[in-house]
Amino acid sequence: MRGLPRFSRALTQAPASGIRRIVSAAQARQAAGLPVYPFHLGEPSFDTPLAVREAAARALMEGRTHYAPNAGIPELRQAIAADLSRRYGTSLPAESVVVTVGACEALTLALMAVLEPGDQVLVPTPCWPNYLHLPRLLGAEAVELPARPQDGFRPDLVELERSITPHTRAIVVNTPNNPTGAMLRRDDLDGLLGLARRRGLWLICDEIYQDITFGPSRHIGVLELSAPDDPAILVGGFSKSYAMTGWRLGYLVASPEHSAQFLKLHQYLVTSATAFAQWGALEALSAEAEVEAMRQTYQARRDRVVETLRRCGIEFVQPEGAFYVFGRVPTAEGGEAFCERMLREHGLGFVPGGVFGRDFGDWFRLCFAGPTEELEEGLAALREAFRVPQ
Ligand code: PLP
Repeated sequence: MRGLPRFSRALTQAPASGIRRIVSAAQARQAAGLPVYPFHLGEPSFDTPLAVREAAARALMEGRTHYAPNAGIPELRQAIAADLSRRYGTSLPAESVVVTVGACEALTLALMAVLEPGDQVLVPTPCWPNYLHLPRLLGAEAVELPARPQDGFRPDLVELERSITPHTRAIVVNTPNNPTGAMLRRDDLDGLLGLARRRGLWLICDEIYQDITFGPSRHIGVLELSAPDDPAILVGGFSKSYAMTGWRLGYLVASPEHSAQFLKLHQYLVTSATAFAQWGALEALSAEAEVEAMRQTYQARRDRVVETLRRCGIEFVQPEGAFYVFGRVPTAEGGEAFCERMLREHGLGFVPGGVFGRDFGDWFRLCFAGPTEELEEGLAALREAFRVPQ
């Protein structure tokens, strides 16, 4: 007898997703017939634009049910390269693009391809939790670098450079940011690219919220500033801009030589992204009017949310993009207890800030991507919780 088989240490030590815990508590409440205002979910309220769904349905009926080419259908790779080239004033070849199973897979490819056990990744926080947990699952270390609300939650590059050690391999940034809505300025990205070049690091830049911005600053993308042979890796996707979360389609963009390496890994992991879905994504790239209409709706929702937070006396940094607000817990109880109490007493689903970085236990995230009517009801419940007149 050799005993029971076991899971890897990295996996058993990984916490269950902090967001999922709130989701389960909210579901239990709903099952008991109690109302929930789901500010915890990061999911667009909109259905995917009709023309996109029709294109995928057509592809399905035409029998596009076989494996797609590993890197993605050529038409989609070409269209993504053209779309990004137009946005960022560059000329990307289609060979730069690997079509992935969501931005999740693109990030996984980037980290798996560059990290060895014992390596370090620098991650400005607060951040999307995958940047912290994926490196750990790979036996690497995610070094958290807390950004400050007084800096608008933009990373401190001096501190970042000071944190580089002989084990550092990569920096992961996200603009517009989940959970703060902060956007990197041209100087930030220039500085990050300079640092990556000088110190021989990869710069992984997640721009999945590139279309959801509210001004006055414009979204600056890494492709706008990087040279073709820079160690920059762009992570992007269709989930947020085009309301396509369930399609599981994203992309990784790097120099053609680098992308060939990511492609090897992608082949072993998933072979290719879903064939007929890629034909829908191709159509999505022409859905500019729908994307703009959704952006305007998010902006109106953002305005409603920040107005209520202000009236409730809750501190936050005004989000410039994405669809989240990061607020400071206005009581001494801490984020976990606050979020648990808000759900239990008022049906308000928030995510505790500690999920997004060790130093943010006194914060919480509110997502305003849900339907406007539900959002208004939730904001009324929030005002009631804080005894603010309706
Ligand atoms: N990157 C960030 C910053 C996100 O917030 C999310 C989803 O919440 C993703 C990536 C995942 O995107 P996808 O649905 O394309 O896997």
